[in-house]
Amino acid sequence: MSLETTLDQLRQIAESVVRAEAPIIDKEAKWPQNSIKALQQEGFGGFVVPQENGGHGQGLYGLARACEILGEESGSAGLCFGMHCVGTAMIVAKATEHQKKNFLEPIAAGEHLTTLALSEPGTGAHFYYPQTQLLTSSSGGFIVNGEKTFVSNGGYADSYVLSTMGVDPDATQHEFSCVVVEEGMKGIAWGPEWDGLGMRGNSSRSLSLSNVALPEGNLLGAQGDQLWYIFQVVAPYFLTAMSGTYLGIAQAAFDVVREHLKSRVYRHNGVSLDQISLLQHRLGMLWAKIERTRQLIYHATQQYDKGDPAAVLAILSSKAEVANCVVEVVNEAMTLAGGIAYRDNSRLDVLLRDARAAHIMGPTTDILYTWLGRAVLDQPILDS
Ligand SMILES: Cc1cc2nc3c(=O)[nH]c(=O)nc-3n(C[C@H](O)[C@H](O)[C@H](O)COP(=O)(O)OP(=O)(O)OC[C@H]3O[C@@H](n4cnc5c(N)ncnc54)[C@H](O)[C@@H]3O)c2cc1C
Repeated sequence: MSLETTLDQLRQIAESVVRAEAPIIDKEAKWPQNSIKALQQEGFGGFVVPQENGGHGQGLYGLARACEILGEESGSAGLCFGMHCVGTAMIVAKATEHQKKNFLEPIAAGEHLTTLALSEPGTGAHFYYPQTQLLTSSSGGFIVNGEKTFVSNGGYADSYVLSTMGVDPDATQHEFSCVVVEEGMKGIAWGPEWDGLGMRGNSSRSLSLSNVALPEGNLLGAQGDQLWYIFQVVAPYFLTAMSGTYLGIAQAAFDVVREHLKSRVYRHNGVSLDQISLLQHRLGMLWAKIERTRQLIYHATQQYDKGDPAAVLAILSSKAEVANCVVEVVNEAMTLAGGIAYRDNSRLDVLLRDARAAHIMGPTTDILYTWLGRAVLDQPILDS
């Protein structure tokens, strides 16, 4: 099936199930259960799972487009689906036969939801320096101890792809491993329910891990892959899931304000807002801002899918640029739509609150521009 046909099917779910659930997701801070279930039932759980394991085998470009479509209806649904795909891509990257059978095939069958748990309270925006410990267990396998924070899909996923330090009690912060922790394992405990300003359906909760016993088969890749995962898998997929979702939010805000300008007619002179040249000009600027960001995201992800090593910088730029784009577009849309947008629970109210997470979700905008600066100065991206 072509990507466009696949996306048409996804759009049907977005415009029916996700659209219907979106107001409740925000109002009640409800995890997008109906939306995620519908996506899984229609086979989208395996969006980035290789075809030989029963999935769609989509890459970054497909992920950007899918999250954009979902993000137009609900930021939380876009991100929750996106985080599942990021966790899945981490498993796909170096999947063993055991991991294909136990994780990828159930994911493709819509029976297993996963997600990514990188951030920690101790290291915050510097999520690439995990402090969660992974120790060799005397009875085989590993023991995990630590704390994760802001785990989207927290409490609703079947597994959590976690970053940890290397397998050594004396491991330094550059030694990095990835493991899959399964829901229900002894020693995991969830913090309070998520009650965010925006992205209210994300269920981005804290997770504590106390002596969690992990089978050897739940280690992703080889010990010592370390930062390979960050730049080859986490960064491209995580950044793209966010870029697509925030692009969708920007487009949704644009659509609201365009309709408002067309439909608002003054009674005293019969002039509609769309006939006022200053407003035409400002709407044109919003369109250009969104379009150039869209083209950057599409270009970056297509280059990555073609295997171009230079794509990584374009992907880093995409998320920094979309964060600026979405915050500026929704702010400006608020002004152009006048008082009706400023009411509690207006569509733009939700979009404004959702958009604000774009700058602070890691890698944050400031950190991304710093990485880009270091890269173009021929310096290592991460400080030592
Ligand atoms: C809605 C939402 C969903 C999330 N979902 C997930 C998830 O699913 N999985 C996950 O792992 N994480 C997730 N996160 C966490 C997120 O990715 C960030 O890691 C987290 O928000 C960092 O927050 P902090 O308060 O610890 O930031 P801090 O580390 O306290 O940083 C505060 C500010 O300082 C800036 N700063 C810090 N150091 C530097 C520096 N060297 N240079 C420039 N600026 C710097 C940061 O950019 C930031 O603006 C989510 C966050 C949110 C808000």
